[in-house]
Amino acid sequence: MFENLSERLSGVFDRLTKQGALSEEDVQTALREVRVALLEADVSLPVARDFVARVQERATGQAVTRSITPGQQVVKIVHDALIDTLRGEGDPGALKIDNPPAPILMVGLQGSGKTTTTAKLAKRLKDREGKRVLMASLDTNRPAAMEQLAILGKQIGVDTLPIVKGEDPVAIARRAKTQAALGGYDVYMLDTAGRLHIDAELIAQAAAVRDVAKPRETLLVVDGLTGQDAVNVATEFDDKIGVTGVVLTRMDGDGRGGAALSMRAVTGRPIRFVGLGEKMDALETFDPERIAGRILG
Ligand code: GDP
Repeated sequence: MFENLSERLSGVFDRLTKQGALSEEDVQTALREVRVALLEADVSLPVARDFVARVQERATGQAVTRSITPGQQVVKIVHDALIDTLRGEGDPGALKIDNPPAPILMVGLQGSGKTTTTAKLAKRLKDREGKRVLMASLDTNRPAAMEQLAILGKQIGVDTLPIVKGEDPVAIARRAKTQAALGGYDVYMLDTAGRLHIDAELIAQAAAVRDVAKPRETLLVVDGLTGQDAVNVATEFDDKIGVTGVVLTRMDGDGRGGAALSMRAVTGRPIRFVGLGEKMDALETFDPERIAGRILG
């Protein structure tokens, strides 16, 4: 991911380093190129502007023009500014799951990787934190999706709520809650229905489930390859449902990393995890340091 941005920035800084000392004009030129690179990487315009302004402020403050290795110094300033924008508060991997059974609501569009991520996260909670997890699929429109969660559950050794035909999502959420309490589970995860696009029904259903379950965490799963669309999806879900964090999937692909930057800047919601493949272990805590390092190459 971030190849475009990374290549662009290395190109810019390479040229700067070769020139030796930097003039104010050089800094301006570099920052213009940084902005273009951000836009090309699918960062939204206001976010790119804001980011460049922050870099400019820092560059000026640190008298880059007089430094011996100005290129490196600018790289560091851009790196630090990227981290500032990407980082949320606290440990992104620390979910609020005290007070069992803690509900986690999983929302997102169909095909974003929601069901896969639900299972990956359940496995992580079981393996790393020794939690007893119950998963429930609320995707009553797609029996195959419900089956898929049950299959993944068996594969990773995590229980799923038995499927009852004809039950609506709110009723399933209630049953999951009861079952989680009676069964002594620490966490229950609700994998809500997804659609190809956000529509009123999807939002209404997710909101109804949210009101019943009162989730401790509402995680939005978005396809990291969908660029600016991912930001729009995040904005919409956050406005209508309220999310406590984002999981970016398919970050193993050559995604346009700009989406991560603008999603964070626009919604203010932290990115908690990234999906790095189809396997059940391919989920990692979001690491702004590593992402910034990859952006800069
Ligand atoms: P849902 O409709 O949102 O529940 O999506 P699924 O969980 O069914 O995922 C759709 C497809 O994306 C499946 O083939 C998954 O294996 C795949 N997938 C999910 N997460 C990732 C990821 O992080 N990387 C890659 N490469 N594939 C993923």
